[in-house]
Amino acid sequence: MKYPTIDTLDVADKNVFLRVDFNVSLDDNGAVRDDARIRAALPTINYLRGKGARLIIASHLGRPKGKHDDKYSLLPVAKRLAELVDCEVVMPDDCIGMAVKKLVHDNREKKIILLENLRFHAAEEAGDEDFAKSLADLADVYVTDAFGTLHRAHASTAVMVKHFKHKAIGRLVEQEVGFLSKLLYEPQKPYVVILGGAKVSDKIGVIEALMNVADTLIIGGGMAYTFLKAQGHAVGKSLVDDHRIGQAKRLIDRAKTKGVNLLLPTDHLIANQLSSDAKVQILKVGQDWGDGMGLDIGPESIKVFSDALIKARTVFWNGPMGVYEMTPFQNGTMAIAKVLATIKATTVVGGGDSLAAINKSGVAGSVSHLSTGGGASLEFLEGKELPGLKAIL
Ligand code: AMP
Repeated sequence: MKYPTIDTLDVADKNVFLRVDFNVSLDDNGAVRDDARIRAALPTINYLRGKGARLIIASHLGRPKGKHDDKYSLLPVAKRLAELVDCEVVMPDDCIGMAVKKLVHDNREKKIILLENLRFHAAEEAGDEDFAKSLADLADVYVTDAFGTLHRAHASTAVMVKHFKHKAIGRLVEQEVGFLSKLLYEPQKPYVVILGGAKVSDKIGVIEALMNVADTLIIGGGMAYTFLKAQGHAVGKSLVDDHRIGQAKRLIDRAKTKGVNLLLPTDHLIANQLSSDAKVQILKVGQDWGDGMGLDIGPESIKVFSDALIKARTVFWNGPMGVYEMTPFQNGTMAIAKVLATIKATTVVGGGDSLAAINKSGVAGSVSHLSTGGGASLEFLEGKELPGLKAIL
């Protein structure tokens, strides 16, 4: 491992600043709906506490737009965390300031201090130096386990780290970097990548980079229509990013030159409106879609994609194959989730929607690695050095 891990640290009786990703979803009563992200940090929390550290844990939650907003308070998270660890969790009502300093200074009993939402300060996302220094002044050692935000150069993920001599990545980041490095540098072949979702712009970079390592590249979901249009097909009123057609064309050509098998869906579930009771029909590329929109991949595409996946020894999946949030358009995504669960390959899934689909289909346990960071995993596979990782070196 290129990055120092927590095994290299001496944390006994030290104040350790632990940046985590507790950006969990809350239910209507404001309680934690899904505690997976809290549980994901437990190995690091338990290890550091076991070594005698005084933990100061920090996270963001939601998008409070730079000001205090009770709706995005980490209080429900503090409550859930307290149920998962064997010590008291205390939470000040801010992440910097005199009250926080005093709490840290007086923490003889080594309670866990969970700071209030970092993004209550606009300075966090702006990467503000003074704010970063105020956070850094709280601790002697810095540990990051916030994989989902490592691609952001924010105050708490990157800027504050320069103030520390002793710093490391936590267990979750270690595991993520381990799996994703294998995919980036030494994937077992055949390596099949399957991408979906709506935004082409987010994935152009990774598609380009994956051309150098992947054997088969499958593009489904809303993204596929920009590529189909780039090939000269009419796609009705389907989602198309007209500004990316030129790039899509270049990628299609590049795949040919590189000998990468680029698979696009050949049949689609077409509807005239995006609603659960919409009338749907299966149409092939080349048929007249009229004003219809492609909202899921069809059975022929599911078969072709599944056949490619079955032959793989390594698979990376990011992005749904259709508007899987609505029952009529979930088939393609669910079918891919199930194939991934049955094949004998290293299977890595990243991105909130793909994870939700995997969980919905009840096969999450059969996947080799569920990445906790969609954007971060894509940027890592693009070969970019994530600001939060660079800062640790
Ligand atoms: P992204 O954030 O780019 O990964 O996109 C995820 C979203 O893509 C999900 O909310 C899906 O509903 C949406 N999506 C997938 N397939 C389609 C499609 N064919 N048309 C429109 N939206 C889609």
